[in-house]
Amino acid sequence: MARVMVIGGGPAGLASTLHLAARNQEVILVEKDEKLGGSPRVYNCKAVDECRQCGACLAAEQAYRVQSHPLIQVITGSQVVAAQLVNGIYHMDVRGAEGAAMFTVAGIILATGFDIFDPAGRSEMGYQRLERVVTAREMEEILIKARGEWEEELGIMPRIAMVRCFGSREQSRGVSYCSRVCCLYSEKLARILIDRIPGATVDIFGMDTQRYHPVYAAGHQDSVRYIRGMPARVDRLPNQALVVKYEDSATSSIKQGHYDWVVLCPAVLPARSDRSLCEMLGIERDNQGFIASLGGSTNQRGVFAAGCCTGPQTIVESIGSGQTAAGLLLRHLSSA
Ligand SMILES: Cc1cc2nc3c(=O)[nH]c(=O)nc-3n(C[C@H](O)[C@H](O)[C@H](O)COP(=O)(O)OP(=O)(O)OC[C@H]3O[C@@H](n4cnc5c(N)ncnc54)[C@H](O)[C@@H]3O)c2cc1C
Ligand code: SF4
Ligand code: SF4
Repeated sequence: MARVMVIGGGPAGLASTLHLAARNQEVILVEKDEKLGGSPRVYNCKAVDECRQCGACLAAEQAYRVQSHPLIQVITGSQVVAAQLVNGIYHMDVRGAEGAAMFTVAGIILATGFDIFDPAGRSEMGYQRLERVVTAREMEEILIKARGEWEEELGIMPRIAMVRCFGSREQSRGVSYCSRVCCLYSEKLARILIDRIPGATVDIFGMDTQRYHPVYAAGHQDSVRYIRGMPARVDRLPNQALVVKYEDSATSSIKQGHYDWVVLCPAVLPARSDRSLCEMLGIERDNQGFIASLGGSTNQRGVFAAGCCTGPQTIVESIGSGQTAAGLLLRHLSSA
């Protein structure tokens, strides 16, 4: 049976790969990083008293299963540098630090994920100008590296501000669409911070909360405050506190709060590397720059797409779309 290729080893690509291999389909999985798992590799478990279904551990479990499956060839640290379609077969030139190889495949699933909005372009918010102004992904990495010693890392009774919708839902300074996942992860991140660091407080700034996920029914805790208003500027006082200035939408007045950490939740953007991949394969992208897909099918026969490369979505949704794309690819192979 002809082989197929999955490009991207995050939750979506891993789900596609496993779905295909479980149906006796040989798969070549190409991942540009040295390790499989995608973005969730740096996310912390969000369980407080019980599992909060953040999905982060699913990717690690999928990666483990992929690596030990006899029908799956994993190529990490590599990317497709050229692709050619000849008589319904794709000729893929894959290159990495360890070498180069040509593969012929009968179908492709694109699962290349996303980039995030670069906060450096908005210096008024303090990123790269002030210490302890970080992105949510960087905060996840700080906590992972701290190996449970979170109080030592963030300080005693840290006051933390989280800024939602940073670069999302504002066309003039970012993108017009909602990034769909940051309400979810900021709430879960806030809760583990107050649960594991005695006396920690978190203020979550944002326009409103998008209720895509049932988790919001969980209610609020006193140490997490929701402030309806978008911060306009972050500065540092002589005593080292970070000052967040914002317009409080409830009172239409300018206010400020003092914090030890500011965590930005930047917009989810189309991956820059997708541009060349799409050009090579003749794949159309939508108005926002994501891969244009109709339920997993692209404009190109035999090429399917899954996960955040088609638009912002959660880990569980990405896994589901990976399985759907794999099903479509199998149907394509059987009809070819
Ligand atoms: C800070 C933050 C926290 C989040 N927390 C949560 C959460 O708690 N729960 C939740 O459900 N969602 C969360 N999300 C969303 C979650 O990250 C996505 O749902 C998920 O990662 C999407 O999976 P994916 O496979 O589409 O993309 P990714 O996880 O981004 O995986 C894409 C993979 O493709 C690889 N790749 C990219 N381009 C190429 C190429 N050209 N060739 C080869 N490989 C390539 C990348 O290296 C990567 O491994 C969070 C997002 C952010 C930014
Ligand atoms: S789904 Fe999330 S909260 Fe639940 S065990 Fe896995 S990592 Fe922890
Ligand atoms: S998911 Fe929430 S934080 Fe993210 S852009 Fe949408 S409304 Fe803003």
